Amino acid sequence: MKKFFSLIFLVNLVMLLGCSEVDPGEPVLQPSFMSPYVLFPNDPAISDSVAAYLTSGAVLSLHPGVSYTLSFDKDSSLDEAPVLQLFRVGGALDDQRYSIRHVRSLDAVEKDGRYYYDFVCEENDRARWVTTLALNGDFYTGNVKNVRLDAEGPYSKNFSINLIVVGKVVFPDSSMTVQAFADSMLKSFRKFFKGIGIDTLYVRYAHEHPDLGKKYPADEPWLAGRSSDDLFVSELGGWPEKELKKSLDLVLVHRIEADHVLGYSYLYSGNFGGGEGSTVVIGTREKTPYGESEVTVGEILETAVHESGHFLGLRHTTSTRSDMSETMDYSVLEDGFTDTPFCRDLLLSGLLKKNSVGHSDFAVPAYRLDLAAAADFSVTDCPDHRNLMFPSVTGEEFEGFSEQQLEHVRKNLTVFPH
Ligand SMILES: [Zn+2]
Repeated sequence: MKKFFSLIFLVNLVMLLGCSEVDPGEPVLQPSFMSPYVLFPNDPAISDSVAAYLTSGAVLSLHPGVSYTLSFDKDSSLDEAPVLQLFRVGGALDDQRYSIRHVRSLDAVEKDGRYYYDFVCEENDRARWVTTLALNGDFYTGNVKNVRLDAEGPYSKNFSINLIVVGKVVFPDSSMTVQAFADSMLKSFRKFFKGIGIDTLYVRYAHEHPDLGKKYPADEPWLAGRSSDDLFVSELGGWPEKELKKSLDLVLVHRIEADHVLGYSYLYSGNFGGGEGSTVVIGTREKTPYGESEVTVGEILETAVHESGHFLGLRHTTSTRSDMSETMDYSVLEDGFTDTPFCRDLLLSGLLKKNSVGHSDFAVPAYRLDLAAAADFSVTDCPDHRNLMFPSVTGEEFEGFSEQQLEHVRKNLTVFPH
């Protein structure tokens, strides 16, 4: 956690000389640091933390070739609209400092009590930009509320899946083959991701990886986070075959080395390419403080769909304390959709304080747990416990995603290059 703070919260930004353009309307006011608060595309969850830092250093998570509209409520006590200034975050200069470059200064369009700023991200790859708001040569002093980043891109609403089997995998029903599991997985994805095309489900084995195969013996159970330091085994993402390179990489391991964690992914990752954030990890067993316990095939499949939901931009229906500590944002209590219920009791229960296991520069880890094993709290009393983005397995059947959740995923798929 300490490292996380030093990397993200206290990152100082250094303007590269000669790279800043000065807008005729407002002098460039550069952010002096980068806050940990990230504004994600189309996210309906309203974050007061993002709003609080929009003036001085909120982070935007952007993808190439995508059209964005950033908007927020007008402060009725001020007549003038601020200029939105955007800065691209470049490479690390050292542990504490990153370079930045001024890329845009945008005037607002006012409509129905909100300010709107349109821009296109012309980067080659996903990028982080940092914001400031300027008015009359100084930082904007108005109140900023209800910030949104609407986004629409040119990419397909279909995707393919690459199921990467790592090491020796034995399903709880030992007669089940990998191919039968893969067939069931494809059925689950097609059932739950309604209106989204799942083109193909490929199956590949880590020990057959053309470059890395030797590191992944076929006959050893893989413990993600112990067999490999990298819990996400992200080097396996972006499988080096033409048709598979832009698939959603689902890494299947024996188990994940964190108590009661059934699956892992990065929230809003959207990285269909390779490298950090490009994999979703699922286990066939659950680690417990005393050893491990079985997970049903149904739970493994639902966890795969749930984690892919995070990857594509779905938050938990109700935030857990661990979600809040991962994002350092205690202002996001729920997912922001009006058609998914919210479980006040779960939020108040204070469950699930977990240690950070690492982070991406672009997204934060999100996971699915077995809450029932961790608490004397009845998860089935929660009104959202049948939604697939409920933070825990419940032992009861899931109904799936709501219509707003599905529409959100469809929109985000146009934003994430694949
Ligand atoms: Zn989750």
